[in-house]
Order: sequence, then structure tokens, then C-alpha cells
Amino acid sequence: MPLYTVTCETHGMSLVLAPMSEADWFMACGECGRLSPRMVESFQFQQDNLRLYTDGQGGRYSHALGQDMPESRQARDRAAEAKGVEFVTKAEFLADNREAADALAYREHVDAGGEREPWKPADTSGFTIGAA
Ligand SMILES: [Zn+2]
Repeated sequence: MPLYTVTCETHGMSLVLAPMSEADWFMACGECGRLSPRMVESFQFQQDNLRLYTDGQGGRYSHALGQDMPESRQARDRAAEAKGVEFVTKAEFLADNREAADALAYREHVDAGGEREPWKPADTSGFTIGAA
């Protein structure tokens, strides 16, 4: 039997255990039995952002999975496990990727009106061209 929350004028909110067939807009207060309005509670709703996934061109293709992104998180996780790939959150990715975290922090700094750093050429001293 589900629990219902009833709000009595005298006793405030109380939880009332009742069969669904007896659930009504007004239910007996758990203390005094007076008919009192039942609070309508919304069901838990969790948005699944997989539906909003796009590959950059507006498609649903996931290069990590080698297929279109499934509709549900469970289906995605099954496909990922079969493929041997692991999805990480943005925070997990940035924790493992210092360069990306720095670039994002700089972008936010500039977007917030911060001063741009002067351009400096990348250090290419470790690379040689044409030496085989
Ligand atoms: Zn009452």
C-alpha cells in the first residue's frame, strides 16, 4: 500500500497508509480522522540527456561506440561494454587531462572578460621534420 501525505488544518502534514482504491483528493488525517487535502507529489523525473546527444553534425553517430548512440543509458552501457569502451563524465575527463582543463579554464577566463595571454609559438624542439 502506498503512503499518502495528508495536510490537516490542526495537525499539519501526516503520512497515511491506504490502498490505492481509497486514495482521493481528500483523505482522513492520521491523527483526528478529519477529511483533509492530500498533497499531490510528483513522480521522480530524471532527464536522460542521451536523447540530446549529437555528433557535431546533428547526427547521433558515436565514434566511441562505432554506431548511433542508443536511446537509453542501459543500452549505451551494454554497447560500451561489448566494445570495451568506458564513458567518463566531463569532470572525470578533465581530472585526467591537465591540458584540456587548462584550456577550458583559459576559455572561461577570456569569456568572462579576462585578459588574453600574448600568443607564443608552441615548443617544437622535440620534433624534427624529414628525418627518417
Ligand atoms: Zn488532524
